[in-house]
Parts: sequence; structure tokens; C-alpha cells
Amino acid sequence: MKRIGVLTSGGDSPGMNAAIRAVVRKAIYHDLEVYGIKNGYQGLMDGNIERMTLGSVGDIIHRGGTILFSARSEEFKTDEGQFRAIEQLKKHDIDGLVVIGGDGSFQGAKKLTEKGFPCIGVPGTIDNDIAGTDYTIGFDTSLNTIIDAVDKVRDTATSHERTYIIEVMGRDAGDLALWAGLAVGAESILIPEEKEEFSSIVQRLKNGHDRGKKHSIILLAEGVGSGFEFGKRIEEIAQLETRVTVLGHIQRGGSPTGQDRVLASRLGARAVELLIEDQGGRMVGIQKNVLVDYTFDEVFNVEHTIDKGMYKLSKELSI
Ligand code: ATP
Repeated sequence: MKRIGVLTSGGDSPGMNAAIRAVVRKAIYHDLEVYGIKNGYQGLMDGNIERMTLGSVGDIIHRGGTILFSARSEEFKTDEGQFRAIEQLKKHDIDGLVVIGGDGSFQGAKKLTEKGFPCIGVPGTIDNDIAGTDYTIGFDTSLNTIIDAVDKVRDTATSHERTYIIEVMGRDAGDLALWAGLAVGAESILIPEEKEEFSSIVQRLKNGHDRGKKHSIILLAEGVGSGFEFGKRIEEIAQLETRVTVLGHIQRGGSPTGQDRVLASRLGARAVELLIEDQGGRMVGIQKNVLVDYTFDEVFNVEHTIDKGMYKLSKELSI
């Protein structure tokens, strides 16, 4: 292995820059050359490829987003697109590729590896929805952004008797809603993985109201449905005044937390080691604070699940 490439793909997440930095510096430390590919797989197919130096990743460890930009590409899902990408990699004499992204991006990395081009996946997504790793890069920052926003809503909430519904990201995974809900002491946490009867949510709100609670906070993952629709139902059925906040893209932004910077640095560096060891087709992760790696199939064959104990605890603490 003499020359490696690195790209970011799918939705961006805070800490991706720290991961790029680690890939570049670790590779140069081991006397490899590194090429940055801009705009994810689209940029790869288009040959948007540039040499990276120690200096090109200076002063980025604390920045949100990704200096390599990210993109989604339908064309790359086709065999022709993947061959076009490999052609570009060969043209630049690149022997291995680090893909920082979510599970969709890893599907692409798996396809390239199957076509003979070794790729390593680094889990970068705020959703924390990838099996084989306890945490993904960006989750901790996003969690803290949500907590900060809900704390601010709570400050104004104490002045009014209302139910506040906060809609957070998570189409299929409820980790952000669950962790944030537990961290802010939400009355209810609605996530795709757990169904709760509407009547029991209403009952819990009413119990709080009856014992003189000034306000209630509900965390809702977007995969469960619209916060506005849910708020309307609460108003109609429970006769409680509601306010809905959809946090949206602020959850993807901001300077990465210490946790995310350290995680990104460790995972990025480990990805380079795997390429040097000639082990393509794997994803790096962290479990119980130990670095691990699995084949892409091992990752895809296990369903990501939420921590059921935490969900149960959130109920016990919001009686
Ligand atoms: P996030 O879920 O955080 O947004 P992601 O990596 O899952 O991140 P996707 O949009 O699913 O985001 O995937 C990113 C890109 O990976 C796609 O635009 C596509 O180019 C490529 N990709 C996704 N699925 C496949 C697949 N089955 N085969 C080949 N490439 C794929």
C-alpha cells in the first residue's frame, strides 16, 4: 500500500473533519501518500481528487461539516458507476480507500471491495444507527446540541403551562431522542423502535398536570411522525396547550465535542492501519472503549437496536 484515498459520504456529521485529519496524518506518518476525494462517490466518479498534505488538514479538528464535502449519488449505485470510480482510483495510483459515512456509504464501499478495490468504513453519522460500534462520529455532538436547545426551551417553558414537543432527527433510529430525552428528563420519549399507546402518553401528561407540573417535555424522533401532527392530537384529545419545535439541521452542525474528536481520531487512524495490513472490506468501530473491526456483511447482518434498559429507565424516571 503506497497511496490511499479518503472521502466523506451521505449526511455529514460533526467530527468528520477530525476523522479526515487522522486518516491523512496517520497515513503520512507511515510514509503513505494521501488523496482527498471531494463530494463523496460523485466526486470519485468525476475524478475530483487532490493530493493532501499535513498542512491541508491543519486547523480543522474543531470544525463541523466536512472539508471534503459530501454528496449522495444514484449513479454510483450502478455497476457502471462503481467501475467508473475504480477507473479514477487506478488512474491516480490509489491502492486503498477510507470511506467516512453511514450504512448507505458502506454499501458502496462493500461493492468497491467486491470489485477488487479495498475499502475501510469509518462510521460517521449523527444517528448512531450502525451495528458493530457503540458510537458513531457526530452522535455525541448532536446529542449535546439537542440538550442545549431543550434546556433553552425549558427556560421559557417554566413561564407557561404547556406541553413542549421537540422533534429530533432519527428516521429509523431513536438513539438521539432516547439519550436526549433521558438527559433532559422528558415526560415521554417517542422512538421508532418502541410503540407506546397514545392513551398512556396522555395519561402521563395529565398526571403531571394534576400534580401541578408547570410544563412537560416530549422528545419525538422524526421516524415516529410529524411533531406538529402529534401536537395537534395532544391539544384535541388531552386539551393541553402544546408548542412544537422541530430542531432540523442545527443537529448536524457545530464544533464536535471532545468525545467525537477523540473517537474520530482513533477510528480514522485505525482505518489506515487496516489498509496497511491489507484488510479491505471492513468497518472500524468502538465497543466498550476498545477499537474493533467487522466485515461489512457482519455489520449489515446485525440490526442496530436501542438500549432497552435505558428506555425502561426513562419511563421509571418520568412517572
Ligand atoms: P446517513 O444515513 O448518515 O445520511 P449514509 O451513508 O447512510 O449516511 P446514504 O445516502 O444512504 O447515506 O448513502 C450515501 C451514498 O452511498 C449514496 O448516495 C450512494 O452513492 C452510496 N450508496 C448507498 N447505498 C448504496 C448501495 N446499495 N450500493 C452502492 N452504493 C450505495
